[in-house]
Amino acid sequence: MAMNRIQFQPGLSMPEFLKDYGTEAQCEQALEAVRWPEGFRCPRCDGTAHYVVRDGVRKVFQCAACRHQTSLIAGTLFQGTKLPLTTWFLAVYLISQAKTGLSALALRRQLGVSYPTAWLMQHKLMQAMADREDRYVLEGKVQLDDAYLGGERTGGKVGRGSENKTPFVAAVSLSEAGRPIRVRLTPVAGFTLKAISAWAKDHLAPTSTVFSDGLACFGAVTETGCSHHPMVMAGRKPKEVPEFRWVNTVLGNLKTSLSGCYHAFDFQKYAARYLAAFSYRFNRRFDLRTLHQRLIIAAASTTPHPMRVIRVADVHC
Ligand SMILES: [Zn+2]
Repeated sequence: MAMNRIQFQPGLSMPEFLKDYGTEAQCEQALEAVRWPEGFRCPRCDGTAHYVVRDGVRKVFQCAACRHQTSLIAGTLFQGTKLPLTTWFLAVYLISQAKTGLSALALRRQLGVSYPTAWLMQHKLMQAMADREDRYVLEGKVQLDDAYLGGERTGGKVGRGSENKTPFVAAVSLSEAGRPIRVRLTPVAGFTLKAISAWAKDHLAPTSTVFSDGLACFGAVTETGCSHHPMVMAGRKPKEVPEFRWVNTVLGNLKTSLSGCYHAFDFQKYAARYLAAFSYRFNRRFDLRTLHQRLIIAAASTTPHPMRVIRVADVHC
């Protein structure tokens, strides 16, 4: 179907990637170019004259005017890491080119690092994707659906009361021609008017036109100025209703991605991050060849996210 254009686009081959990012010097150069596209600037005095010194293996810029020292990795996602940048960049490549995501276990095998290290790298990069996704709101025509993560696969009770089952809002914005533009998958405390109202304020442009299956709580999107069109399903399956076609396709892709590579994870704790990583890839699905560069930019411009922050449970509205 229509997704073929995405599936058959050429990705970036490993030799191509290694030609540009195979050495520590190349990775340093790439990170430096992203951080200071117009050349180094001292964060203290704004001076440009500097010396490059080394703190162990790390590149450090020392301002010629005020002598302030700035590490290349300080203030980025890579802050404090003991790993070579080549290992990090390879992780970026593997995660960005894996069609349905990559598990920490697979990352561990490919990078030759310990499982806790691979897990932390994966979660830091997923958080960088989540931070990037937070910059966008959906607008125009938006299909909205209620969905759940977990439940049957995790050995808990099946159904609404199941433990480790996380409710989330699935939303897809569409072009005038009815093609999907962006997705947004957001865990919520539950499908209540209050939760949906808060969700809409954060994630919808007030001019949006929302289509839903008529679940009462979705009416709360009108509180932000959106118009709401509850659809009568009348016994039809969601995929048979044009207004729900894309949100259901996205949920199908998500299910394949999660069952194929992540298995069970702590949905309640990390749902937002996994969902954002899926959305990040989906929203950049036409740019497979440059996805690694985008993720390097995301990693360079995000805050460091130390372990204690990465391990903190997601806070739902
Ligand atoms: Zn300075």
